[in-house]
Amino acid sequence: MRKVFIFLGPPGAGKGTQASSLSRHLGFPYISTGDILREAVKNSTPLGKKAEEFMKRGDLVPDEIVIGIIEERLKSKDCLQGCIFDGFPRTTAQAIALEKMLGDALVKVLFIDVPDEEVVRRNSKRRVCSSCGRIYHLETSPPLKDGICDSCGGQLYLRDDDREEVIRERLRVYREKTAPLLHFYKEKGILTAVNGEGSIDEVRSRLLAEIEKLDKA
Ligand code: AMP
Repeated sequence: MRKVFIFLGPPGAGKGTQASSLSRHLGFPYISTGDILREAVKNSTPLGKKAEEFMKRGDLVPDEIVIGIIEERLKSKDCLQGCIFDGFPRTTAQAIALEKMLGDALVKVLFIDVPDEEVVRRNSKRRVCSSCGRIYHLETSPPLKDGICDSCGGQLYLRDDDREEVIRERLRVYREKTAPLLHFYKEKGILTAVNGEGSIDEVRSRLLAEIEKLDKA
């Protein structure tokens, strides 16, 4: 049966870092709507042109656009065994659409819980490689050489939406539109909350412990 993991949590909770690491561990593809949209903006595709203004101000891209992206992505063969979602779904309409797409898949929702002050601190210090997408944090996981990616030598940059005023708006949008999904998934009995404070490895171990429980279930 197809296994699907959904990462929920405020911006900067560590969803991207943890979900991509878990994707390597389990051998399932990592699907980040944020990455797909940023790539489209970078390449000025029709999708990127539609999404750019929403993203710049920290708002959500309209549901029908994002749902369309995921419908296409799930058709790929690499998703047959399972996949890991980061940043999708973000609204109840997206969650309902995803349920229809997944049918009888085994779904587990992992909520990474991090307080607001920590969210602002983490996002403003986040740097991303413009070439391979690797994520750094200037305090907790800095690159060996300033501004340069350890993995591929690419340039590191601060995402437009990681500026403080935009982070605060993203948090507001998260609370209004995404946080209700916690209730939605809790009711279905598939939500697990994990403490997102501490080092990347500590959080990773907590998540793996939860995932192992699913394997034994
Ligand atoms: P992320 O990298 O997940 O923080 O996403 C960055 C930005 O992309 C968000 O602030 C939204 O503007 C847009 N975005 C990513 N995923 C979604 C989604 N599921 N629904 C709507 N907008 C999204």
